Amino acid sequence: MAKINGSGHYLLKGESLNHYDQIRRDVGNQLLLTSGIRNNVKQMHLFLAKAFQSDGNLSKAPRSLAPPGHSYHNAGDFDVGKIGLGAMNFTADFSHTPEFERLISLGYVDIRCTDTNQYGVRYEPWHIKLGCSSEHGSSCDHA
Ligand SMILES: [Zn+2]
Repeated sequence: MAKINGSGHYLLKGESLNHYDQIRRDVGNQLLLTSGIRNNVKQMHLFLAKAFQSDGNLSKAPRSLAPPGHSYHNAGDFDVGKIGLGAMNFTADFSHTPEFERLISLGYVDIRCTDTNQYGVRYEPWHIKLGCSSEHGSSCDHA
């Protein structure tokens, strides 16, 4: 794994790191890695913390976080945001930034489309998908 300067997050060396480097070159230095690789233990902690916030309502919790084992972050996916936007990077606000416009205009970036999946996980405009395989069951139409 490689630690990404200024972000406190990690990416898998190889495809993930190269992808991020290329995106950052093309979008500019206002783009920041907001979440990289997560292991299953951390994912479980995040999931349980989220469930706790929802008063233990697990049908609510997965709406904003994939259940353990279903996080594509394990497969090399990562999240990006705009420097200075803070927590708003994980809201629809990110999709209104020039950085996002630039991101989707590049043509080689796939945004994870999760709005129709069976877990009810919301659409994440900040979530960059590595590879576009049908095995993950998402068809991305973000032209
Ligand atoms: Zn993500």
